[in-house]
Amino acid sequence: MALWLDQIGQIWWASLVRDTARYAVFAIAIWALLWVLLKAPLSGRKIRKESPPAKQMVIEFLISMRSIAIFASVAVGMTLASRAGYYPLSSMAHHWGPVWFGVSLVLMILAHDAYYYWTHRLMHHPRLFRRFHRRHHLSLRPSPFTAYSFDLREAVVMVSFVAIWPLVMPTPFAVISMFVVHQIARNTLAHCGYELMPAKADGTPLIDWLTTTTHHDLHHADARSNFGLYFTWWDRWMGTENPAYHAAFARAAARKPRPAWNHPAAPLLAPVAVGSRTESPSAP
Ligand SMILES: [Zn+2]
Ligand SMILES: [Zn+2]
Repeated sequence: MALWLDQIGQIWWASLVRDTARYAVFAIAIWALLWVLLKAPLSGRKIRKESPPAKQMVIEFLISMRSIAIFASVAVGMTLASRAGYYPLSSMAHHWGPVWFGVSLVLMILAHDAYYYWTHRLMHHPRLFRRFHRRHHLSLRPSPFTAYSFDLREAVVMVSFVAIWPLVMPTPFAVISMFVVHQIARNTLAHCGYELMPAKADGTPLIDWLTTTTHHDLHHADARSNFGLYFTWWDRWMGTENPAYHAAFARAAARKPRPAWNHPAAPLLAPVAVGSRTESPSAP
């Protein structure tokens, strides 16, 4: 029994250290690079005039550590379940070669984008927002440390995808590790405060189907729109993209905004019955 508990402790600790390292490396590297070293040359690409206070970033770091502790607990469950044979598809997919490795990574990212969009939208329901998602929106001005600043329940919702997906899709465990690296990289960039996506001549993002930092920053400014994580298509299909997105992007990318009537998402936009005015942060 003591040996068994010792093993669980080791798995938990190893997972905690690994996820903390991933989070801290990306958050600190992006903060040091954008907010310190390249602050002057990138000043034209800063999305908001004011930076969040240091106290906010310290709180975000501590809350993110709490989220990572939950992720580590789920990792213990997954490791024990895998040893007991409850992840047969992952063991099988391990032998399917490099093509499936790449395909399963893409599928996992696509599936997570859909999962994130819908769970995120659900968490903005007035009945759920305060219990699931309020903590994240206390970061009115996001920072590279905001990535895992979640309420406890939101952390559970977020990590559940990683535990459930390999049960329904043959996904090698090595793919899950790569997925997590991609997830934290995109998540940190989404909150980094600087628009890094190049703009086309007309001021639109070079790759318009990828979400940009401005896209998610607008969600922190007006929580009724822009629920997507990696790709813009769910917000466009569901009419929840902020109508000011392209103009805000053009401003952040130091380009002139194109006329509003040219906005490709305009016909899709409709009022969205999610979130609540009182719960949502107001625009800065
Ligand atoms: Zn956010
Ligand atoms: Zn939100």
